[in-house]
This record gives sequence, structure tokens and C-alpha cells, in this order.
Amino acid sequence: AFHQTMPEKAFLYGIPRKYYDEDGIRRYGFHGTSHQFVSLETAKVLGKDIKDLKIIVCHLGNGASVTAVKGGESVDTSMGLTPLEGLIMGTRSGDLDPAIIEYIANKEGKTLTEIISMLNKESGVYGISGKSSDFRDLNKGIAEGDKRCEIAMNVFTYQAAKFIGGYVAAMNGVDAIVFTAGVGENDPKVRKDTCSHLGYLGVEIDDEANKLRGEEVKISTENSKVPVYVVPTNEELAIARETVALAK
Ligand code: AMP
Repeated sequence: AFHQTMPEKAFLYGIPRKYYDEDGIRRYGFHGTSHQFVSLETAKVLGKDIKDLKIIVCHLGNGASVTAVKGGESVDTSMGLTPLEGLIMGTRSGDLDPAIIEYIANKEGKTLTEIISMLNKESGVYGISGKSSDFRDLNKGIAEGDKRCEIAMNVFTYQAAKFIGGYVAAMNGVDAIVFTAGVGENDPKVRKDTCSHLGYLGVEIDDEANKLRGEEVKISTENSKVPVYVVPTNEELAIARETVALAK
């Protein structure tokens, strides 16, 4: 529901229009409860009206999505018709050339259902590392010199940074960048590596503050041109609030 405010230019796919008109094929987005909750919390932390803010929320968990929130409304998000689209995730591939599906089907005689299942359950950082979908294991692997864990981490943070850059363009600016969910709240390396691509925005990470885990904290320096925060998500609370509002 939170992503229903996206404009057509953000939710339409480049396929024949009839698939939208007749079947409703479009970007819907996911993690809306979390993106809404976290953007509202960020406005509170900044002491500003959310109506005046452009916020990029990076919900990085086993599933991962990035959303551009302008004036309190979702204007673009990385997941699509299904949660398979967008950023590479724990076991989901995220974006890929659809022609790869035809190649694998021809090579291995797999059905479409089998391939989509492989893209959902055996891909992502798990598929690249060949080790784990859990970032704690990837960090351990990196510490032990495992190159495949390192490249999996690099693909993940590079893609996160590309989505952030895309959403700065979508909103023509950004007032705050926020990390949330299992990885976003707990993994300083993911946050630091992602932000290492954002020097052009004047983003500067405070390494001491970035060491904290699972807390609401500003992780950018005072000099950083764009503040970066960790804001723990609370989807249960957001759902309870929505339910109360509906019941009233
Ligand atoms: P979520 O889907 O939001 O519950 O996130 C779950 C994921 O968070 C796990 O699969 C891990 O990859 C990640 N995670 C949880 N704790 C940590 C931690 N201490 N350091 C790095 N990643 C973590």
C-alpha cells in the first residue's frame, strides 16, 4: 500500500501496455511497512516535517529493497511485481537480463518454475559466494581470505550504492540516507562499503559511530553533506498502528 503513490514512470515496465491494462503487471514494491515506518522515524530524528524531506531507505535484510521517499510518499522502489527484482539479496538474484532464463532453460532443460525457484532460493550472495546467504558468514569468510565471499559482498554493496545514486536522481536530491533491517542494522562493513561509493554526494562515515549495532544512530560525520542513519525497523509496531487506525 505504501508504494501505491509511485508515479507511472516509476511503476511501468517497458513491455506492451496491454500487460498492465489487462493483467495489472507493474512494479508494486515490498517492505512498504518498513520503508514507511523508518522514513517517519528519520523525520523525527531530523526534527523536520516529513513533507519537506527526501529520504532514501535501504532495507537490507535477507530480502533487500531500497526506496525513494519524497514528502513522506514512496516515489520509487527497487522490488517489482515480485520481491525478486532489484538489489541482489541473500538468496535472490535481483535484476538480471531475462535472456539468461532462456539460456539456462535450453542448456539444462529446466522448466520456468524451476529456474524462477533457483533465482529466488539459490542465487544472490549465496549463489555467488557458494557459502552462505548470511552476512555474518560472509564476513567470517572475508576475514579468512575467502575471495568468493569478498566478491559477493562487493556486488551487494556496489548495487546498493547504485540504487541510492539512482534515487538521488529520481528525487533530484536527498536529505538523509537510512539503513535498516537485519544487515542494515547490524553490519558496519556493508554500510561503510556502500557509502564508500557516495563521496560525490559529500557522504562521510564516522567509523566509531558506525561500529554500533541495532541502535538508532547517526553514522555520518558532522562534515558529511548528507547525514546517514541507522534506524531499526519495527514492522510489528507499524502494522499495529495501521490496524488501530483502520479499526477507528
Ligand atoms: P532480516 O531479513 O531483516 O531478518 O535480516 C536477516 C539477515 O540479517 C541475516 O540473514 C544476516 O545476513 C543479517 N544479520 C543479522 N545479524 C547480523 C550481524 N550481526 N552482522 C551481519 N549481518 C547480520
